[in-house]
Amino acid sequence: MTERAAEIFPTGTGWVGHDLSGVIGSSMCIGCGACAAADPTVELRLHPDKLIYEPSHPSDERAAAVCPAVQVDFPGLQERLFPGAEQTPYGVVHSVMLAQSTDEERNRKASSGGLIKELLVHHLSRPDIDGVIALAEVGGLDFQPRLLTRPEEVDTLPGSIYHNLAQPRAIELLRANEGRFVLVAIPCQLEGIWQYVFTHEPHLRDRIATTIGLLCGWQYSHHAIRAICQFKGLDPDAIEQVSYRGDGPVGKLRIRAAGREVAVSRRVDFGYQVAFDRSFNTPRCHLCVNHHNMLADLVVGDAWLPSTVMTRTGISLLINRTAEADATIRRLAGDGRLVFSDVTVEEIKESQTRRVVFGDFAYAYGEYLDELGVHRPRMVAANRQAARLAPRRDVEAFHRELTRKLELQRAGRYRYLKWRKATKELRRFLGRYVSWFLVRVVKIKSLLGQRKEVPREKLEIFR
Ligand SMILES: Cc1cc2nc3c(=O)[nH]c(=O)nc-3n(C[C@H](O)[C@H](O)[C@H](O)COP(=O)(O)OP(=O)(O)OC[C@H]3O[C@@H](n4cnc5c(N)ncnc54)[C@H](O)[C@@H]3O)c2cc1C
Ligand code: SF4
Ligand code: SF4
Repeated sequence: MTERAAEIFPTGTGWVGHDLSGVIGSSMCIGCGACAAADPTVELRLHPDKLIYEPSHPSDERAAAVCPAVQVDFPGLQERLFPGAEQTPYGVVHSVMLAQSTDEERNRKASSGGLIKELLVHHLSRPDIDGVIALAEVGGLDFQPRLLTRPEEVDTLPGSIYHNLAQPRAIELLRANEGRFVLVAIPCQLEGIWQYVFTHEPHLRDRIATTIGLLCGWQYSHHAIRAICQFKGLDPDAIEQVSYRGDGPVGKLRIRAAGREVAVSRRVDFGYQVAFDRSFNTPRCHLCVNHHNMLADLVVGDAWLPSTVMTRTGISLLINRTAEADATIRRLAGDGRLVFSDVTVEEIKESQTRRVVFGDFAYAYGEYLDELGVHRPRMVAANRQAARLAPRRDVEAFHRELTRKLELQRAGRYRYLKWRKATKELRRFLGRYVSWFLVRVVKIKSLLGQRKEVPREKLEIFR
């Protein structure tokens, strides 16, 4: 192992719970900003080599107690948020739906079904809601949570932003404003926010009227952006605007830099497949067991199902964790603002894979890092019982490859990574397309009797 590789995952220290030194050492920060709220001397800064946001210093117990890269008490947090409700491997579930906004333009511009914006417009027209706190565009690669108070502002919000961000502003806005707010957040961001609220400022609980969570498979370090810019001949330091979704179910990555815009197919462009390979994820994503956002009242994701693969515009998968969330969707459908079909809880797994929902890989990788003595977040939820742990040899091979690729990324050797995918990794790479085609297009699982497709009449309402 090279000296640089040994620095990437420092071994032999194990779990660090008294401050953020373990989080910094193992690059597990996801930028939620809870530590900065708990300890005002902490700032989040973009690390010059890792290209992820990290705390400026390890702080102490105050920050460690709220940090989701140190620990997350999923059973305890769910009990506080949904008292008495059954905690299943899918989290607390009231109902599951497929849904789409009836506003075609909003749907087309959105990441999936345009549901989040439809919900936000509805909430902002209610007299008992004072505002929405959601991620807004600032410029270039910078996006920050913003407080919106008028329904007309909702369509200025971006679609899904996949690169790593520092989001301390969400808690700052909650602290600075009295009232009742709707909060939009990715899962690990909500983990940090709830841990902060319950341990440091419980009165802020009453300011959060409801939470709309995004389902989240991964986010990427800024190396992903720099790599794709290099492949497409753009200057990453001159980026004016970036968007990842819109114009159909999958959408294109669009980057404008120094007046030139490129649009990159997220499904077939080879450069995109290299730059947005799993090794470019922020390291905590490999250990994430909460992709399906167990701490949000209502969760919105993509309906990546064989039965929706040919639709013209995106369809959302909704997990309503409360009766109120379910009632809101039915009310909006009654008002003609969206269409929806009830589906079974199984569709969460079918749309997102077992690995995402049950943490088959994440739980196994966590155990492996423990053996190596690498700091990693402590977290176990009810999906652990359903997880079929990934084989040890796969975990070892993944870790070896990840360490090597992170080393190459930090050395800026993106072209070498491209060459590597085109040679050494080519079989595996093509295998993923074959598997996608068999599962999503040929519907192999249905042909083999392993699953029942969503009935056609439930899908006819979508575009
Ligand atoms: C990092 C990331 C990874 C994702 N991975 C998956 C996945 O694996 N599977 C899946 O089914 N769905 C995933 N999603 C969710 C999906 O892309 C859509 O965001 C979701 O279906 C909502 O679509 P929409 O059309 O209703 O929302 P849109 O109308 O597109 O609105 C998106 C909303 O999310 C907010 N937002 C965007 N990016 C962020 C961010 N990084 N942090 C906090 N808030 C943000 C915006 O403010 C906006 O309000 C991911 C989203 C993100 C941000
Ligand atoms: S994960 Fe959140 S709380 Fe932990 S160090 Fe990063 S920003 Fe701070
Ligand atoms: S995959 Fe998990 S850790 Fe990674 S950004 Fe999404 S919620 Fe956070």
